[in-house]
Amino acid sequence: MEEKVCGLVIRETDYRENDKILTVITKELGKISICARGVRNSRSKNASAVRFMCYTEFVISGGRNNFYYMTQCALIQSFYKISEDVVKLSLATYLAQLAADIMPECSESGETLSLVLNTFYVLANTNKDLALVKAAFELRLMAQQGYMPQLECCNGCGEITSPMFFDISAGGLWCPACAAKGVKIEKNLLDALRYIAYCPLKQLFSFTVSENIAKDLYSCCEQYAVSVAGRPPKSLEYLKMFM
Ligand SMILES: [Zn+2]
Repeated sequence: MEEKVCGLVIRETDYRENDKILTVITKELGKISICARGVRNSRSKNASAVRFMCYTEFVISGGRNNFYYMTQCALIQSFYKISEDVVKLSLATYLAQLAADIMPECSESGETLSLVLNTFYVLANTNKDLALVKAAFELRLMAQQGYMPQLECCNGCGEITSPMFFDISAGGLWCPACAAKGVKIEKNLLDALRYIAYCPLKQLFSFTVSENIAKDLYSCCEQYAVSVAGRPPKSLEYLKMFM
């Protein structure tokens, strides 16, 4: 049976002579794999709708083990403009890979689709600080995917003081009296983490922090994302050459 879904291509892999296997985030079916036959043929009219960063309407069939075959497609929006800037492209590649690694197959994922679409829109059309975009995406993705860190109070005694310590592996806070383990975080950094975790998605990138806080936020969110993912995505190493 055929069905129609809208989804964002977050990974493309060449397959056989002329085909591609796409990893796509859809609202309806979550993260799925789609085999797009013949799209690497130079005469394929679908080629421009099945690339990385394309938001596309797919007509698909199959679905055994979350694997589908594409029968038709129509491009809705492409974020290909990102690829004009090598740093933005490396960042988009890393963020997409992180999402692909974290998301389970076939789970409801409207929120995460919105997060990735918003982020790609910001990368394509604005000049926001890329380090902040990276940090906000990392933490928000984890929060959406069931790894919301406990940012309210100390894990041990429930106190809230400043500074606190953010325990990366436990995803929670400690006060200095209970356990001074993890990353030391001042109040401003904790405020930034809370903002990213709880704010309406539309306002995710509408914050600024001082230079010092930005540095700590960058490292804190990356460490947390890598800890949840279990290992750093390969694309992070490449991104590190630029930022
Ligand atoms: Zn405590």
